[in-house]
Amino acid sequence: MRLPLPRTAIFPGRYLQAPDATDLLPDLAAGLGGKTMAFAGGTAMREIIPRLERGFARTGAAFQAEQANAECTDHEIDRLASRVRDAGCEVVMAIGGGKALDTGKAVAYAAGTRVIIVPTIASTDAPCSAVAVVYTEEGMFKRYISLPRNPDLVVVDTAVIARAPVRFLIAGMGDALSTWIEADACRQACAPNLAGGVSTLAAYALARLCYDTILEFGVAACVACREKIVTPAFERVVEANTLLSGLGFESAGLSSAHSVHNGLTVLPETHAYYHGEKVAFGSLTALFLADRSRALIDEVYAFCESAGLPTTLSQLGVSSPTDDELRKVASVACVEGETIYNEPSAITPERVFHCLRMADAYGRERLRSISKSV
Ligand SMILES: [Zn+2]
Repeated sequence: MRLPLPRTAIFPGRYLQAPDATDLLPDLAAGLGGKTMAFAGGTAMREIIPRLERGFARTGAAFQAEQANAECTDHEIDRLASRVRDAGCEVVMAIGGGKALDTGKAVAYAAGTRVIIVPTIASTDAPCSAVAVVYTEEGMFKRYISLPRNPDLVVVDTAVIARAPVRFLIAGMGDALSTWIEADACRQACAPNLAGGVSTLAAYALARLCYDTILEFGVAACVACREKIVTPAFERVVEANTLLSGLGFESAGLSSAHSVHNGLTVLPETHAYYHGEKVAFGSLTALFLADRSRALIDEVYAFCESAGLPTTLSQLGVSSPTDDELRKVASVACVEGETIYNEPSAITPERVFHCLRMADAYGRERLRSISKSV
């Protein structure tokens, strides 16, 4: 007899978001233990670390910073974990984009410390999750580390996020756009989430709130980011990209949009595009796979067009894909263990191939009619 999976949801210990939240970090770190080692990429080393050094000097707590390499590799995790152990630190603070944050999560786990995550861009939903992605020294995907718990604290300084290029925010909306579409597929199929169970009502509701928030406020948030200003709409979208999407994907489940993303990575032309940009096209494909209503399909396409997310393969650098190339994308999206099998309908590489072509053709058709009507 197979027992039903439990309803399960996992969360970071605390989430804090505000303009200039960076200035709160010394006191927050003191609450978690005290002696802190921060890891940051080159930009954050220049722009954030001096400010933190001044803040920690004010509190008198021990603080040191170390530049992290660009990739999250096993070698880098081992190197930084021994630095943390040798210095006797109790708190690891990871500052930067997705890879720096994943390095910090993995280092804290290896060194047995608490971890504070400080994203400087809102381009993915990685900050709140209990997953780290490890790459080879050459930058190829190697493995996922499933951590036993989510970060202790996630601190988002919206003044810092607003100064980052708007394309990061747009890519984050692409990742967030998929959250409810994938959660809804998992709900219909009673498919597992990433927390070892099935979705709760809470996770599903947060995934839907994520979708509604970016559709309503996404375009205004992009305008604010281009102007480098923090508005209420900008705050909402940063929360949707970071917290709502993070809780949603992890606790409500992934399905085909992320598998199509993984398939698209076999085309070298797509490597110049961010995770969320490829996931957005995965969501469009998912709409056709799941035979969604015309109203929903047009709503999602219209949002992508207005936000600047790709709706055609040529907008992902793939200007004239051959059927062979797209069949390869489809077959990688359908490898064993992919979350595409969380869809409620039967999945075959041939069906995925047809829906990939449909998503691209529908996007091109809409762009043609938009340009005719202008
Ligand atoms: Zn994602």
